[in-house]
Amino acid sequence: MKRRLAMEIALGLIVVGLVVLAVGLVRGGRERGLAGFRGPVASVEFLDVGQGDAILVRSPEGKTALIDAGPSRSVVGLLRARGVTSLDLVVVSHHHSDHYGGMAEVIRAFHPRVFVEADSPHATPLYVALLELVKDQGMTAVRPYSDGPRKLNLGSVVLTLFPQPPSNEHEENNNSIGIRVDFGGFSALLTGDSEGSERRWWLRRASGLCSGVQVLKLAHHGSRNGVDRAWLEATRPALAVASLGSGNDFGHPHPQTLALLRSEGVPLLRTDLSGTVAIRTDGKTWAVDGPGRVARRAPPAEDARVRRAEGTVHLNSATEAELRGLPGVGASWARKIIAGRPYRSVDDLAAIPHFGRKRVETLRPFATAR
Ligand SMILES: [Zn+2]
Repeated sequence: MKRRLAMEIALGLIVVGLVVLAVGLVRGGRERGLAGFRGPVASVEFLDVGQGDAILVRSPEGKTALIDAGPSRSVVGLLRARGVTSLDLVVVSHHHSDHYGGMAEVIRAFHPRVFVEADSPHATPLYVALLELVKDQGMTAVRPYSDGPRKLNLGSVVLTLFPQPPSNEHEENNNSIGIRVDFGGFSALLTGDSEGSERRWWLRRASGLCSGVQVLKLAHHGSRNGVDRAWLEATRPALAVASLGSGNDFGHPHPQTLALLRSEGVPLLRTDLSGTVAIRTDGKTWAVDGPGRVARRAPPAEDARVRRAEGTVHLNSATEAELRGLPGVGASWARKIIAGRPYRSVDDLAAIPHFGRKRVETLRPFATAR
C-alpha cells in the first residue's frame, strides 16, 4: 500500500513537472518566436491620455521617467494600472496644459526627484503653481543646455536632451524639449510639439541626435506641422507613433501627415485607435505590445527601409500564422482574410463582413497589398 502511494505521488510529480515544462516551453517559445528578446528589457510606453502626451520610459533596472503628463490627473491611474509605484524623473516638454495638466498630481503621487523643463517665457498661473510644487518637494530642476546635448542616465537607458534653441516668444510649441531615448542599439525620438523651425534648428545644430531612430513620436499629435519630409529623411523611423484623442477638436492627425507617412512607407500607430502603445526592446530587437503582440525585429545595423519591408505582412501571400500576428486579427479573421483574396489595397479588408473600419486602421501600419 505504502509503495503504491509512493508511486502515485511520484507519477503525480512527473505529471506536474511535464505540465510546468510544457507551459514553460509555450511561454518561452512565444517570447523567442515573437520578440526574440535576450537579456534585460527596457520599454517606451505612449499612454492613452486622450488629446495630449504622456510617455513612460522604464529601464531594465526598474528606473522610470515620465515625459509629459497628459491633460489631466487621469494619468496617475494609468501609471498605477501599469504597475508604476515610483518615478525617478519627470519632464514637461513645453508649457501647454495637454502636456503638464496631470503633472502636479503625478508629482504628489510618485515623488520623482528630478524635474526637467524647457527654457520658456510662457507661464500660465497653473504652470507657476506647478513650479512652486516642484520647489516645495525639493526636486532638482534640470534644463537642456543651449550649446550642446545633455545626457541623463536612467539606469542603462540614456535620455539625451537636445540643445534648446533661443526661446521663442511667439510659438510655445517651438520651445519643446527634444529627447532621444537610447538603449543598446534601440532609439526613440520624443520632441514634444516642436514645429518646423525648431526641428530645422536641430537638424543644423544636432544632426547626429536626429538620425537613424527606430521609433519616432510625431510631434504635435500628428498635426501638419509636426513632421515633414526632411525630418523623416533624417530620422528614418521604422515606426511612427502619434498621441492624440479620438474625435479631437483639432483635426489631428492631419490628412497631409498621413499621406506623407504613407508615401515614405512609415507605418503609424495612434493612441486614439490602438490605446496605449507599448514598445519593448532588449537593445537588439524590439516589439510593439498589444493585441496580437506584433513583433518588429530591427537589428540597428540594418537599413531602415529593409526593416520596414521585413516587418510588413502581405495580405495576398501571408500564411495564416503571419496574419494572426497582426493586431486585432485572431485565427478566425486570418482565415476570412485568406478566403477574401486577392486584395488591391489594405482598405479592401473593410469588405469582409463585420471586419470593421477600426480593425483596418489598427493593422494598416503592418500590412500591405502591393
Ligand atoms: Zn500638445
